[in-house]
Amino acid sequence: MDFKNLARDEVLDVKRYIPGKPMAELQRERGLAEVVKLASNENPHGPGQRVLEVLDRSIRELNRYPDDSAYYLHKALSKHLGLDSERIFIANGSVEILYFLAELFVNKGEEIVYAVPSFLAYSIVSQLSLGTGVPVPLGANSRHDLPAMAEAINENTKLVFVCNPNNPTGTYNTESELKDFLDRVPENVLVVVDEAYVEYVDAEDYPRTLEWLEQYPNLILLRTFSKIHSLAGLRVGYSISHPKLVDLLERGRPPFNVNSLSQVAAMAALKEEERVEWIRKENSLGRDYITKKFCEMGCEVLPSQTNFVFAFLPLDSKEIFESLLDRGVIIRPMESFGGRENAVRISVGLEYENNRLMHVLKELIQTKSRS
Ligand code: PMP
Repeated sequence: MDFKNLARDEVLDVKRYIPGKPMAELQRERGLAEVVKLASNENPHGPGQRVLEVLDRSIRELNRYPDDSAYYLHKALSKHLGLDSERIFIANGSVEILYFLAELFVNKGEEIVYAVPSFLAYSIVSQLSLGTGVPVPLGANSRHDLPAMAEAINENTKLVFVCNPNNPTGTYNTESELKDFLDRVPENVLVVVDEAYVEYVDAEDYPRTLEWLEQYPNLILLRTFSKIHSLAGLRVGYSISHPKLVDLLERGRPPFNVNSLSQVAAMAALKEEERVEWIRKENSLGRDYITKKFCEMGCEVLPSQTNFVFAFLPLDSKEIFESLLDRGVIIRPMESFGGRENAVRISVGLEYENNRLMHVLKELIQTKSRS
């Protein structure tokens, strides 16, 4: 049987994402006492007490389907954001919304503009869509080149993805840069600003996009509970946009796509404001520590507004990755970054994890430079 002909050509074009091995497997294989995972931009802190309690109660009702309308989570988010709940669309992780947008909005011959390197899902959903992806390289200081992205928009463009702050670089575009860009985008082009890391940002000139929704009906903001809210394992994210866009997304989603545990956990997580503030501070300290250590080691490091740090090391990144793995630390080696093979992305961990990483890394770099 010719399995290849079963799927649309677009499916065959997609390079499969190769996830890392489960931690327990890695530990067993390499005989490691402990593994420190700093590879997936996760929150190193588990969910808070409120979340744990509500999950404990809700787990007993798993025989029931979830509330398909996620009524109470809509209400809670609406209050939290100070926005009409009609503007909110909730999904099984914010990445699901990227899939919906590409599938439901993009016709044959239409184009999707996004930056590279940026979150990989933009290129994957573009490939899977009926349209074509138009990657635009990052510009100066490894930030989105918004003028170049505006230039890339033509009469075929349907969607634009802007990751702010950007994954994997941790860099951001300012309020005035993003506003200038939005002013140049025609109204029939949807601009998705992916703000997965928004809660970690402390830059004063970071765009306050929630205030722009009236002015730009083509603006879609993406947010997630996977990062500062510690719920990556449950899969829950949302978008904020014009209610008419929400209506279209609602028509296209599968029923019950947001499970019942996600709904109650997300609501509880919104109430843990003090905890979020504490995590934000802890993350800033860890981010500053890693950045400072890289600077001390003479490595080029990008200024980060997220829960990860992007750096260029004096060694090949794949080699560093393997050597760190042998020592029980997992980081993300970046594929050729602007022709450079020495870039890594490191998620901010707990204090002892960050210390361990920098200690091992320093040793490795010293050993390699001596040999
Ligand atoms: N957007 C960006 C920029 C991300 O880095 C991630 C997670 N790595 C996501 C979206 C996906 O988040 P979620 O867990 O909500 O699907």
